[in-house]
Amino acid sequence: MDVDENNDNDVDENNDNDDDGNDGAPRRVAFILSKELVSSLLPSNRMRSNLSHSLISSLGLLKAPSIKVYKPVPATRKDLVAYHTPDYVDHVLDPVNSSRDVVSSSEGDEFGLEDDCPPFYGLHAYVPLVAGASLTAADILKKDAADVSIAWDGGRHHAQKSHASGFCYVADCILATLSLKRPSSPSSPLRRPKIMYLDLDLHFSDAVSHAFHTPAVGGGGVSPQVLTLSIHHTSPGFFPLSPLSTPLPTSDPFTLSIPLLPGASSPTFHRIWTTLVEPAHKAFSPEYVVVQCGVDGLAGDPYGVFNWCLGGEGGLGWCVGRVMGWEGKKLVVGGGGYNSPNAARAWAYLTSIALARPLPLDTPIPDHPAFPQYAPSFTLDVPAGNMRDMNTDEYLREVEGVVGGLIGRMGDVMGR
Ligand SMILES: [Zn+2]
Repeated sequence: MDVDENNDNDVDENNDNDDDGNDGAPRRVAFILSKELVSSLLPSNRMRSNLSHSLISSLGLLKAPSIKVYKPVPATRKDLVAYHTPDYVDHVLDPVNSSRDVVSSSEGDEFGLEDDCPPFYGLHAYVPLVAGASLTAADILKKDAADVSIAWDGGRHHAQKSHASGFCYVADCILATLSLKRPSSPSSPLRRPKIMYLDLDLHFSDAVSHAFHTPAVGGGGVSPQVLTLSIHHTSPGFFPLSPLSTPLPTSDPFTLSIPLLPGASSPTFHRIWTTLVEPAHKAFSPEYVVVQCGVDGLAGDPYGVFNWCLGGEGGLGWCVGRVMGWEGKKLVVGGGGYNSPNAARAWAYLTSIALARPLPLDTPIPDHPAFPQYAPSFTLDVPAGNMRDMNTDEYLREVEGVVGGLIGRMGDVMGR
């Protein structure tokens, strides 16, 4: 990775935050950075971490006065078995299994290390570092050393208890959320903090939603500590298949799903944000928000399902800016995104929003080794394409009816 320590292209320290759409308050941001992860060979996203962190660095964001860069503390076996099975953890931590040779072994199959989750060189080091990145970020928030913690290498929302799934080998979102549930010390004022997990990835957050799905608790009138809300696409045959990805009037009101149709664009996100996301947040009133910022719904992603963009009302930046304006602490993680230059643009822009210093979308990509990859625009923006938004008023009314009803039920439980 190219971290230019002498980069002069710093964030403007005299930037006036009053009219930037954020709350204007100084915001302490922790940024988790691992040179090992940045150079990782994660098969689904080769070089994406390097590209993202190089762009963030070359834009001078890591030199902003309110940001502090931390190395992740690698997760221990004990940390990992807080969610994963001991057998799975022992398998992925054994360097012998960080080889393509086990693809054909029955043990590799058993742990899901095949197809889209092949074993790769360094897997045994990758797993503790990715989990450690999100756990370190969570720990910083628990210690009140920051208001926002960012771990772009985290966000692996498909990894299951006992097997890898959907390019995800370790369930860092679940592990970090479990950590946030626990008070940092016996004297902590937050005895039983509430955590809202909000997932903006194109795909349903199956592993996280299932992990915290406790219908007997919410349905029984007792408020659980965790609310999950996933905004995603789902359709027959579209990964991941899960009964929780489509809301029903009888669903658990603390496991919310907002499925969107192809072409979902900023106006659609703006609408559901106003009618569903904000009311859900208000009803639950969490002390922590974990926001998974998968960017495979942006225009230009190889999936080509949504037509979301970075800027403007209802854009990804606007939505994350709204989250930043909420009370409480925020843990910000990455996720999917298979157009690597666009993922880098998005995460750089979101980093600037977390800092309450949003970069203009026409910011030129600075001269750095990865510069040619940002052709032809060579700017920060990821604009929408020409795809038609299939989310009609009729369809959205239907979703709002069901999910709005669930949010109403959640409010009733929370008010008891
Ligand atoms: Zn995804």
